[in-house]
Amino acid sequence: MQLKAAVAGLAALVVAIAGPALAQKRIALSFDDAPRGDGAVLTGDDRTTQLIEALAKADAGPTAIFVTPRNFPAGQNGRARIERFAAAGHLIANHTNTHPWLSRTELDVYLADLDKAAELIKDFDNTRPWFRFPFLDEERNDVAKRDAMRAALDERGLFSAYVTVDTYDWHIAGRWVEAARAGVEVDRNALRDVYVAMIVDAAEHYAELSEIWLGRQPAHVLLLHENDPAAFFIGDALAALRAEGWEIISPDEAYADPIAKQLPETRFSGMGRVSALAFDAGARGAGVFNHWSVDEAAIDKRLAEAGAIPLPDPN
Ligand SMILES: [Zn+2]
Repeated sequence: MQLKAAVAGLAALVVAIAGPALAQKRIALSFDDAPRGDGAVLTGDDRTTQLIEALAKADAGPTAIFVTPRNFPAGQNGRARIERFAAAGHLIANHTNTHPWLSRTELDVYLADLDKAAELIKDFDNTRPWFRFPFLDEERNDVAKRDAMRAALDERGLFSAYVTVDTYDWHIAGRWVEAARAGVEVDRNALRDVYVAMIVDAAEHYAELSEIWLGRQPAHVLLLHENDPAAFFIGDALAALRAEGWEIISPDEAYADPIAKQLPETRFSGMGRVSALAFDAGARGAGVFNHWSVDEAAIDKRLAEAGAIPLPDPN
């Protein structure tokens, strides 16, 4: 009996130790729309160099680079930039050629655009058979079209490379460009703080949604873009995530999570897969889903309050 009790005690101890490890917060990084054009500070070409160096310095491991090849000929060494991402170990995948909305585009036109992108990226190293929907638009209106799109991805051996943590990093990047063009002085440290807080708060928000509505913590995928804030501040963002208990993982590991196979029923896909699955599980209302990381006015307010960029002129 004593031995049995000891074994039971040991088992309980193992559960106590292993439990939190299983619930560990894990997140992979993805950068959409590469190769993007010039930003507030950096040329596209310099940005790619800086972002690759920052990711290496932060020991981020591989990230996913979702490519829109229409940007290749724009005079920014577009193709060479993607080759550099691949050479640095990052994973190259399809984000269509011209970035259309699925819900506003005929399916055959959309698929031709996707196929064109596939042709233009097939010779890079480190490609993955992953497709990221532009605007996270998986078809917002027409269920038959959405299902036809899912079948078309299957036919092509492509996987829907969902996100779970949505952010409007593109809005911060856009406000920085506007300020630079208008000659408005930008406090770069304050801008960094808002960017970092947005990423950490968003990750925590979607982790909480997962706990409540999925009953488990999936491996997360963070949506970012190949922009100047990423090139300057990604190291700070990763340090802040790690300080909050997040482990940075590869996209390969993230997409091995069971939710990769859970295609949502809802057409509400614009905030990523965790939100969609939470909706399917019964979550409703802005109070559940809305977050400042996906709210342009709320981000503007944060930027102004931090002293990074003043509020835009209402006129
Ligand atoms: Zn995009």
